[in-house]
Amino acid sequence: MDRTRSEALFQEAQRHIPGGVSSPVRAFRAVGGTPPYLVRGEGAYVYDLDGNRYLDYVLSWGPLILGHAHPEVLRRVQKTMEGGLTFGAPHPLEVELAKKVKRAYPWVDLVRFVSSGTEATMSALRLARGYTGRDLIVKFRGNYHGHADGLLVEAGSGALTFGVPNSAGVPETYARLTLVLEYNDAESLREVLRTRGEEIAAIIFEPVVGNAGVLVPTEAFLQALHGAKEYGVLLIADEVMTGFRLAFGGATELFGLKPDLVTLGKVLGGGLPAAAYAGRREVMEKVAPLGPVYQAGTLSGNPLAMASGLATLEILEANPGHYAYLEDLGKRLEEGLSAVLTEKGIPHTVNRVGSMLTVFFTEGPVRTFAEAKRTDTELFKRFFHGLLDRGVYWPPSNFEAAFLSVAHTEEDLDQTLEALRHAL
Ligand code: PMP
Repeated sequence: MDRTRSEALFQEAQRHIPGGVSSPVRAFRAVGGTPPYLVRGEGAYVYDLDGNRYLDYVLSWGPLILGHAHPEVLRRVQKTMEGGLTFGAPHPLEVELAKKVKRAYPWVDLVRFVSSGTEATMSALRLARGYTGRDLIVKFRGNYHGHADGLLVEAGSGALTFGVPNSAGVPETYARLTLVLEYNDAESLREVLRTRGEEIAAIIFEPVVGNAGVLVPTEAFLQALHGAKEYGVLLIADEVMTGFRLAFGGATELFGLKPDLVTLGKVLGGGLPAAAYAGRREVMEKVAPLGPVYQAGTLSGNPLAMASGLATLEILEANPGHYAYLEDLGKRLEEGLSAVLTEKGIPHTVNRVGSMLTVFFTEGPVRTFAEAKRTDTELFKRFFHGLLDRGVYWPPSNFEAAFLSVAHTEEDLDQTLEALRHAL
């Protein structure tokens, strides 16, 4: 496959942009090689600068559940755009989108729009601290909630759990306000709540993890999370990836969760920058201008992002069958991948919920980040490039979720499996 033009442009880009990219994973450091410059998308397919076509399992990292360039989404954005790009003033579409969010999450009273998942989680944590008057937060290893300082931490040494920075530039004193626990470890979560519960403002978690590759929560873990309420700790379900993807009401609906706050992004914006944090009136009323917790944004609630989000959510709400279709496709892909890898004698574990899936190259089970890290990353590189060279664009890291859209078909999946058979 000829990627000459992408290769040349990527060389040039590195003279002007750190690593040539606007977000690190795009640089293909985990897999090597040159990222193709994608310049057009249609349904389940993307096209690069050299004219190559790929079946897309990245889907801009999740937003494009309807596939690329959905005509109705484009039409709504275009129509809105004709009236101007941004006003920095209240806009009718914000009200419509907020009402949609509340239909998906019926316990939510108030929704605040921001422009990225990072802003949503950062703001939700500030709100939780402002509401509870407490400083500590809890997060889980391998869960990613964006790049706010207090969230770029990993577990320090010692049994429990003070965070240490995992990025330069994050002050240690600040990282120490984050306690980091193993995902799916109900016992250590209960222990931390027993010993420190009264100092903790919030627990933030991915209800289904996408950012360690896919990890599925155990029933015991979900129960332990809900135990937080006894200690006045707010539960923040980070549904930036799972919201409107696993069900219209996200993982909250699928697993019957009862969080205090939910953060949304990706599908919420339908491919443009929209995200949100939302919750009960009592908590959300602490946000400015109603309350003392400050948070703002020049482009927040931007009309174009509201339009693409609204068009996307209207289609999803009107077509509940889409979720059943995605489940069927997901199951077919999971079983197909597993069959090919078994046929080739390659140890593997496929973790999947609905249209989010990861193949780990290790004997399972994979329930924690520590177990995810047992994956054979060399084998993953072969898997990845084998697919890419055959026109299949898979996420360029083993610690990411592959996504399906309603534009994917069974034939598409069968071609992927055929490509994999040849690649291996
Ligand atoms: N939370 C989760 C669960 C995410 O998956 C992501 C992005 N992958 C974020 C937050 C951050 O969102 P953004 O990249 O829009 O800042």
